[in-house]
Amino acid sequence: MGGGSSGGPRVRVRVPSKVNLFLAVRGLRPDGYHELVTVLQTVSIHDTVLARLDGSVASAHPAARRFMDLAFTQEAGPDVPPGSDNLAVRAARQLMGLVGVGTAHRDGEAAVPVTRLHLTKRIPVAAGMAGGSADAAATLLALNHLWGTDLAREELRDLAAELGADVPFCVTGGTALATGTGTATAQVLCRGSYHWVVGISGEPLSTPSVYRAFDEVGTPSEAEPDAVLQALRTGDAEALGAALHNDLETAAFSLRPELRDARDAFLERGALGALVSGSGPTVVGLAESAQHATELAGRMQDAFDRVEVALSPAGGPEVAVD
Ligand code: ATP
Repeated sequence: MGGGSSGGPRVRVRVPSKVNLFLAVRGLRPDGYHELVTVLQTVSIHDTVLARLDGSVASAHPAARRFMDLAFTQEAGPDVPPGSDNLAVRAARQLMGLVGVGTAHRDGEAAVPVTRLHLTKRIPVAAGMAGGSADAAATLLALNHLWGTDLAREELRDLAAELGADVPFCVTGGTALATGTGTATAQVLCRGSYHWVVGISGEPLSTPSVYRAFDEVGTPSEAEPDAVLQALRTGDAEALGAALHNDLETAAFSLRPELRDARDAFLERGALGALVSGSGPTVVGLAESAQHATELAGRMQDAFDRVEVALSPAGGPEVAVD
C-alpha cells in the first residue's frame, strides 16, 4: 500500500489525545458495558492523519467516487494494526458506507480514484489516552472534507459513537463531561491552561482487561465530578490537583503494581495531583507552571519509559487543506 501518484487534494488533521480528570464507574449495564461518569480533557500530544485523493480532478467527481478504493499507510509501532483493524480504516469504511463512496466495483478494473490515508502516531498506544479514538475522529473529519460530503459535526458524532466510546469526544475535543458508556458528552467550562507531566509505559494495558479486573477488585462508586468541574470553572490548578479521581486506578494497580509507585512518586516529588489516565497505564502529574512541569519531568524520568510535558486543554482536531 502507499506510493502512487500525487497532486490531488490533501487534507491534514492534527488531533490531540485526552486525559480523564475524573472517572467514576457506576456499575454494569444490562448490555454488559460499564456505566461511567467522566470528565475528559484534550492534551497536547497529537497524532496526524493525512488524507489525499489520488487521480485526476475528474475522478474526484461524486459519480466516480462510487468506485473509489482506500489505501492506508502509517508511521507507528508494531502494536498498531496495519490494515482493516485499524480504527482509522474502520472509521473510513463506516463513512464510505454512509455516504455511498466506494461501495461498487467495476469488473476487472483497478478502482480509481484512490483515497490514501496516512497516519503519523505520537500518542502512546493502548495507554488510556484515546489514541485509536483520536485517529478515528481525525479520519472522519479529514474524509468528510476531502470527499465534500459535508456532514455536520453532530452527524459525524453519531457515526463516531458506533466506532468507540471516546470517539465522539475526540471529534469535538476541549473539555467535556461524559456519561453512559462515555458517548454522551456535554462541553464544560474550563478557564486557564494546565501543565502536565505525562508518564508513559512501553508496555500497553488493554482496556477490557482493566474493566475485567475492576469487576473483581473494584467497587462501583457514587463519586461525583463537582470538585473537578468547580476547579476547571475557576481555573484553580491546586484545587484540580486535589480533586483528580479515577475509579479504575485500583484495577490498573492490581494488574501493574508499579503504577501505584509511579503515581505516589509524582506526589512525593511535588506534583499538585497525579492519577492514572483512563484505563492506564499512562500516569499524569499536574504541575504548577510550565517551568515546574519541566523540572518535575526531569525528576520522573526513572519511573517511566517515556516522559513528556503537555498542556491542556489542547482544543480539538485541526483541519488544514493543503
Ligand atoms: P482509550 O483511552 O480510548 O481506552 P487507549 O488509548 O487505551 O484507548 P488505543 O491507543 O486506542 O488505546 O489502542 C487500543 C487498541 O486499539 C490497541 O491495542 C490497538 O491494537 C488497537 N488500535 C486500532 N487502531 C489503532 C490506532 N489507530 N492507534 C492505536 N491503536 C489502535
